Amino acid sequence: MPDRSPGTVDGKASKAGSVAEYNEQEASIMFGMHFPASEYEEDITQIKDKRAFMKDQLKSRNWHHGYHQLVDAISSDDIYAVHNRTSKPLPNDWRNNVHDPSKPELGHPRVWLIGDAIHAMLPSRGMGANQALHDCADALLALQGLAGLSESSGKVPDDKVAEFVNQYESKMMPRAFSWVKKSGGVNDRVRKTSSFSAHFTS
Ligand SMILES: Cc1cc2nc3c(=O)[nH]c(=O)nc-3n(C[C@H](O)[C@H](O)[C@H](O)COP(=O)(O)OP(=O)(O)OC[C@H]3O[C@@H](n4cnc5c(N)ncnc54)[C@H](O)[C@@H]3O)c2cc1C
Repeated sequence: MPDRSPGTVDGKASKAGSVAEYNEQEASIMFGMHFPASEYEEDITQIKDKRAFMKDQLKSRNWHHGYHQLVDAISSDDIYAVHNRTSKPLPNDWRNNVHDPSKPELGHPRVWLIGDAIHAMLPSRGMGANQALHDCADALLALQGLAGLSESSGKVPDDKVAEFVNQYESKMMPRAFSWVKKSGGVNDRVRKTSSFSAHFTS
């Protein structure tokens, strides 16, 4: 944990020059390590002693001893290993592509997708929730347009809803999928810190 420093205590500014008295009982820390799963024969999510694995990795990669202290500070029960899953970019006309008259729910224009439901990305760039919030803002504009139409004409047919969902998706898709790519895309072989496909977190 960092040294205490002047800042805020329970949301209130502390006196200039004084030491912040944050509540250690309520403090939390998240520490994540990402590994390209394809480099390991075993499924690393199944490893029993996850702490030992993390420390072996730190040692073999010569990481600073401070990271060992961090890993030691985490309770074993709080170490989780997961495979990250990412979304593949979709073409703009994806709804038409999945259209099937026998399954009208597929690509239905009244089903709007935001957040990880459409653009799950690796957490490396910290942009998943940010993009989900941006989706809300873009979708809201389109929804306001629909609400106006509903007020003036009473009923809004599916093809009108399709126009508005296209309006939303034409903003959301290039923006959010660019972050899927910048966060490492779908390729866990790329050796960049932004592209690792499995991580331990606590
Ligand atoms: C380790 C990690 C670190 C991250 N760090 C950041 C960060 O720093 N900054 C950032 O912007 N993003 C970060 N993200 C990404 C962020 O957490 C996600 O992008 C965001 O939570 C997506 O929000 P969402 O509402 O789309 O989906 P979710 O948060 O997944 O919400 C979906 C909800 O639906 C529920 N649900 C699922 N199925 C059903 C069902 N059948 N019925 C009812 N409910 C259901 C789920 O339980 C869940 O509560 C991180 C992700 C991870 C894994």
